[in-house]
Amino acid sequence: MRILVIGGGGREHALVWKLRQSPHADRVFCAPGNAGTGEIAENVQIPVSDLKALITFAKENHVDLTVVGPDDPLAAGIVDLFAGEKLRAFGPHQSAARIESSKIFAKELMRRQKIPTAEARIFTESAEALHCCNSSKFPVVIKADGLALGKGVVIAPNIATARSTIEEMMIRRSFGEAGRRIVIEEFLQGTECSLHALVDGKNYLLLESARDHKRALDGDQGPNTGGMGAFSPANNWNSELQYRCEMDILQPLLRGLLNKGITFRGLLYPGLIITTDGPRVLEFNCRFGDPETQVLLPRLKSDLLPLLEATIDGTIDQCAIEWESRAAVTIVLASGGYPGKYEPGKSISGLDEAAKLEEVQIFHAGTKRHCNEVKTAGGRVVAVTALGSTLKAARARAYEAVSRIHFENCHYRRDIALNAVAANVTE
Ligand code: AMP
Repeated sequence: MRILVIGGGGREHALVWKLRQSPHADRVFCAPGNAGTGEIAENVQIPVSDLKALITFAKENHVDLTVVGPDDPLAAGIVDLFAGEKLRAFGPHQSAARIESSKIFAKELMRRQKIPTAEARIFTESAEALHCCNSSKFPVVIKADGLALGKGVVIAPNIATARSTIEEMMIRRSFGEAGRRIVIEEFLQGTECSLHALVDGKNYLLLESARDHKRALDGDQGPNTGGMGAFSPANNWNSELQYRCEMDILQPLLRGLLNKGITFRGLLYPGLIITTDGPRVLEFNCRFGDPETQVLLPRLKSDLLPLLEATIDGTIDQCAIEWESRAAVTIVLASGGYPGKYEPGKSISGLDEAAKLEEVQIFHAGTKRHCNEVKTAGGRVVAVTALGSTLKAARARAYEAVSRIHFENCHYRRDIALNAVAANVTE
């Protein structure tokens, strides 16, 4: 089979790495890819936003399966366009991708299906949203309706921040159309967990649990990022929670979508918060998580390719999935300044030395090959994943690998999975 993976981050490197291992994979392309995907697949210089060029490439190169990594092309309807050309693509159609691309669509669906989530109010007028702040209990969470490059969620600790956020989103339109409508919701307390499910329209197959670290700095301080690290399995997850999530979240969601005539086929990833009242949905994503993919796929023993195909074909109920019992930890190395301004073009050394460690996998994100050198080319630069018989062992190995990689102004968190390891007295 000829496979095209769309995207150029750590998630896509992990997808390419895993799909490449399939005995059914003959050629793997990645558009646009990064220095890491370029080593194991054929990079194609087409940006993820150029849907027409991607279709032309897939047709001309007889691509059998396209796997869409990021949310934006899904929201833009890439899978519908591919289907229109009789090209097979993994990911939801545009109507189903709204579960991620519109927080209001997701919230209304959750309300209708009685899916546990934060109490929320929806606003289309800035004056009403500003007025609502006067009677709010702080902190509140303010969310732009549309996709805003991961920056559309603000936790406002007081009325002044809430007002300036509303003005920024609704009046100054910092995120364009995405902030035309907003959601203001109650701040929930608890620990977060990422659930991934392959959904074939009717049935689903759960992947292993994972937890990510969203804040830039140790101790969960600093601004939100795309994700600074992850570990799997999640230490706040158990079979009872899984049962509740299936009964109270996944099944009613799929029923609700089908009632609206929407078939979701692809990867559904609810971001959950485990509160004292049980799990609640913070958001729905319609694609693999980043960096969750980098921590999950090294634990996946099964061939990923038939699972993706079964998801498209509506036969996921006939599939089994096998996992490593060992734990995994992923640490993201970022450019200094990320998620704010940073300087790209820094030479990266030590990647080969780090990769020599057993049970370590390095997934590139913002990297570019320049002559014989790998240079930084993005905020998140590489993700280092290690497996271990315990979370503690995986963590130690991952940090050992990280210590071998260097670039100017490299920044990473020192406390990925630390609380989980400290809490587990048996380790
Ligand atoms: P989202 O994109 O909706 O997942 O939001 C990004 C991050 O904001 C989440 O991972 C949480 O850390 C935080 N967040 C979102 N909604 C809430 C909420 N209602 N209560 C507390 N934290 C939240």
